[in-house]
Order: sequence, then C-alpha cells, then structure tokens
Amino acid sequence: MKPLIQLLASNGALRSGSGLLTGVVALVLAVLSVLSVLAFHFPEYLTTPEVRRRLDIDLLRRILLAALVIAGTFSVLNFVRGHRRWLASVSFSLVLLAVVLGGHNVYVDPNFPDNTPYIGLDWFVLDLLASSLLFIFIEKLRPLRPEQPVFRPEWQTDLAHFALIHLLVGLLMAIVNSTAHGALGILGFQPWHALIGQLGWAIALPLCILVADLVQYAIHRSFHEIPALWRFHAIHHSAKTMDWLAGSRLHLIEVVITRSLVLAALLLAGFSKGVIDAYILIVGFHAVLNHSNVNLNLGPLRHLIVTPAYHHWHHASEAIALDRNYAAHLPIIDRLLGTQCKPETPWPTHYGVVKDDVPQGFWAQCRHPFR
Ligand SMILES: [Zn+2]
Ligand SMILES: [Zn+2]
Repeated sequence: MKPLIQLLASNGALRSGSGLLTGVVALVLAVLSVLSVLAFHFPEYLTTPEVRRRLDIDLLRRILLAALVIAGTFSVLNFVRGHRRWLASVSFSLVLLAVVLGGHNVYVDPNFPDNTPYIGLDWFVLDLLASSLLFIFIEKLRPLRPEQPVFRPEWQTDLAHFALIHLLVGLLMAIVNSTAHGALGILGFQPWHALIGQLGWAIALPLCILVADLVQYAIHRSFHEIPALWRFHAIHHSAKTMDWLAGSRLHLIEVVITRSLVLAALLLAGFSKGVIDAYILIVGFHAVLNHSNVNLNLGPLRHLIVTPAYHHWHHASEAIALDRNYAAHLPIIDRLLGTQCKPETPWPTHYGVVKDDVPQGFWAQCRHPFR
C-alpha cells in the first residue's frame, strides 16, 4: 500500500517506457470502472436524474467494457514485463472486483425510485473521463507551457474540489433552483417575458450570455472587493499552476452564490429553459477552457470572446493584473467598466494570491473562509 500512497501523493511527468504511464491509466480506469459498477447497482442513490435520463445505458455499458479491457490489458502487460508489478496488481484487483460485482452486465431495474436523495457519482465519473480526455488532448496539442506535466503540483487538491462539486451536484442544484425560482416567484410573470420567450435562438442565446455575464461580472467583482467574500474567492485564486483542472478549485459557498444569482437573473429576464440549458453547456466548456494550459490564439476574436490568455491574466499575481478581467465570456464588459488588464506580454509568468495566505490542501481550503 505504501508505494500506492506515495504515488498518489506525488506529482510530475509520467515518462513512457517505464510502465508508469500505462500503469496510471490502468489505475484510473479501474477505479472509475468500480465506481461505475456501483452506480449501475444503486442508480437511485448514486446517479443524477438529469444525467441518467439523457444517457443511453447500452452506450455506457460499452464504455465500461472498453475501460475494463484497457485497464486489464495494461495491468497484465505491465505485470508480465515486470514494470511496477505492485501497481499492475492493484489495478488488476480493481478490474476483477468490478467484474465480480457484475461488470458491464449489471441488471438495472427500469422502475427504480426516481426521487431519492442522491450523490452525483455518475456525473463525477463521466465528466472526469470526458473532460480529461478532451482537455488533456487540447493541452498536449497546443500547450502553453509544454514542460508542465498533467500531474502538476497540487493536482490532488483540485481533483478533490472537482469531486466535491460533482458529487454534491444534486444538493447544489436543489439550492440554486429553489433560490432562483423563489426570486422568480416574488416577481411573477412580467410583460417582457413573452417578448424574450418569442426571440429566435440567434438573438436569445447571445442576449442570455450577455445578461449572465453582466450579473456574473457584478458578483465576481464583489467577491474581489468585499473582504468577507474575498476569503471565499481567494481559494480559486490560490492556484499557482493553470490547467483544465485548476478552474475546479472553487469554494462551495461561492458556487452556490454565483450560480443562484445568475440563474435567478436569467429566469427573471424570461429566457426559455432550452436557451438557459444551452448557456449552462457553454459556460461549462468555456470556464474549463479558459483555465487550460493551452496556447490558443483567436486573433481579433480575442476582443469579442474571453480567451485562456484573458482569464490567465485574471489569475496573474503581477501588479498590473490585480482585480482586472472579471468577465467570463465578453471582454467588452471589462472594457466599458474600466477593469480590463492591458498587459505588455501575451501571458503572465506568475499566478496566485499576492499575500499567499491561502492554505494548501482541500480540507484546509474548505475551512479557510471561516477562520
Ligand atoms: Zn476572480
Ligand atoms: Zn478562474
């Protein structure tokens, strides 16, 4: 067990040829496979209604089978070649456990109860798999800092934040929806709702993004300028390395406040559910991309859309960048309100909180605002 704990506590590049890369891929897939089998067994407690209703269970079974085959094959090959046999043994044991528990063939009763309290284990597994595949691919294709490994310092902290936000998705959605719909209930139906509801997608979606980003700007700026709120937001800014996972470093209270107020504004404005759902997909992708270790040059479009460079400057610890670039999608908002960073170099060199007073580690960061 000791080498496994040492491996999980470490960081750095996975050099190929030593069996470490395939060993880690096998371990990750084996762990996700066991979690997936558990989700098949207890869908009412371990899966998210909004996710499971939209997914094809046969496709999920095929993905699980592929993960088991890849993890099993890598483990056996590494064991036979004598490459980190302890790691191969752990991964293969997990693959066996997943198979013994029913593997990809677990029967799912179509009539399982639909309104039990749940944790979003399926959302965690699927989003981790999809996001890591997509964004690590993009980061390797056009890296900003090629020397920065996937398992960079503090990856464990950010993965823990990622896990918590995903596992508690049901609770978070319940709070966000009830707060936002409560606000709508106070205001009630307004004459402009019919007008907004009739707009075509080509106008409604950009307008929705504009409204959301204006509200997000006000909240984000408040999180920077009000000391009691900054204690929560400082967690997000404490990341000293930027990549796709760093954006997940968010305090739960901040997630609830920002998401509730933005959704309330969109409901009060009268946007349809379809438009709001499309905005949520866009914000999910754009937020992860903007933290990524990717050298993406959009040319003149950078004045129209927030780019990774734009948001990297928001995270920079250089004096010129402090309390600048609040917008999540539209740079024009910062430009009009006088909070745009005008750097002389394309990318910053240092990230993090200037005072460096945010503790390291997941639990310490969760408690930090209350101390
Ligand atoms: Zn910020
Ligand atoms: Zn950020």
